Amino acid sequence: MPNCEKFFVAGQNIYQPPRQPAHNRLEGKSTQEVDWNLKITRECYSPQIREGTLDLASFDFYATIRKMMPSLLNQEETTHLKETMRSRGVGDSFLHVLLPDLDKRDKEILIKAGQNAFKEDVGATPQWFWPPESALDNATLEVLAEAGYLGVLCAPEQISGLDGPADNHPIILDLENGNHILALPFDRPVSSELGNGDKSNADKFAEKLIIPRIKDLTPSLPMISWTDGETFGHHVPFANLFINYLLTVSLPNAGIGILNINDITKVWLTSDYRSGKLNQRTAWSCPHGNLIRWHGACPCDEGKNGAWKTHYCNALSDFNQQITLLLDQELGKAWPEKLAANFTQAIYHKGSNNSEMSLLAAKASSLEAQTSCPTFFNNPLTSGRINLLFARQSLENLKDAGQTLLAKKLQQNLIQELSKGIDPYSGQDLVTIFADCFN
Ligand SMILES: [Zn+2]
Repeated sequence: MPNCEKFFVAGQNIYQPPRQPAHNRLEGKSTQEVDWNLKITRECYSPQIREGTLDLASFDFYATIRKMMPSLLNQEETTHLKETMRSRGVGDSFLHVLLPDLDKRDKEILIKAGQNAFKEDVGATPQWFWPPESALDNATLEVLAEAGYLGVLCAPEQISGLDGPADNHPIILDLENGNHILALPFDRPVSSELGNGDKSNADKFAEKLIIPRIKDLTPSLPMISWTDGETFGHHVPFANLFINYLLTVSLPNAGIGILNINDITKVWLTSDYRSGKLNQRTAWSCPHGNLIRWHGACPCDEGKNGAWKTHYCNALSDFNQQITLLLDQELGKAWPEKLAANFTQAIYHKGSNNSEMSLLAAKASSLEAQTSCPTFFNNPLTSGRINLLFARQSLENLKDAGQTLLAKKLQQNLIQELSKGIDPYSGQDLVTIFADCFN
């Protein structure tokens, strides 16, 4: 840990969605003109590893993209990433699903699956957790506390019940089950500007934004930023050089040390902790409450009617609940633990005549179909196709398990609900624009 008067935590959320179904019978269903994973790795992940930026950052690296890295990076970079993550990594839920939308068992499956994958890939147990879209409710916090997490990262506006702003303070959240967990709200102005502001001059950025705000913090309170990692080189070309310079030159020159989030409890004093409350069903990328951006019409839609999202979500959520009922009936009570313990295998299952594995793969696929990306965007075509292919993959696994009749019925239900959703760009319904997912 550097010996400095002030500390800065440079947090990154590193995530890409799964882009391909795994089942043999769906091969070729998801062809892409651009290999996005490779492009983003070359523009952003690889430079940040080579230039040493990740050695200074604190970061989550979601399993859906982390599992791909050995095929996208060279051997040296892969080893380096693993070592860096062992020290500076933050936990994830394997899949980027809005956790408040899930029932308790589904929350537990993804949170445990994420922990298991982190241990498998990195060889350590994560202490802090980055929730997908920072979306939280109390039930999710309870599962995270039970899983042994020390705390979650979130946006300051997700916390209330304090005398002053929540930014950068460790907040103790008391939970109904008698546990408690910490919430760690990032600094809103600095994080937003790192994401969307001018990144042409790191010295000026530090001087104008970070130094004045960090001066107002008590010496034992590090400033925490959290920004999408893809900002640095992919969304903004050459911003990888900006962040590297900021962390290696601008901030150290101002006497500000760069702190690993996994060391942060060593810096805080007891007097820094505050009690607060979570504003449930909020997220860092929609200020309108109740996670509305992902479920229906929201001011975030920028003039395009987002009502299609309601039908898209309902169709896939009902589908996921039906799969749960089937697994309860076919596999008894212990299947959630089994799935969490074998999640990597289940999600990449290519199809087989092993009935139990096919049922677990059907459930993993129906959870994968809950990935939040399609309804983040206004246009259903941006990312809506892949989740329907994961639902289709779930159906294929059901057929492998001998559940052909149920698969047919669930497909009809999906199509019925999707037909009520209208694409605001073409005016066509969702079944028409995604017809090839179901034939
Ligand atoms: Zn919104």
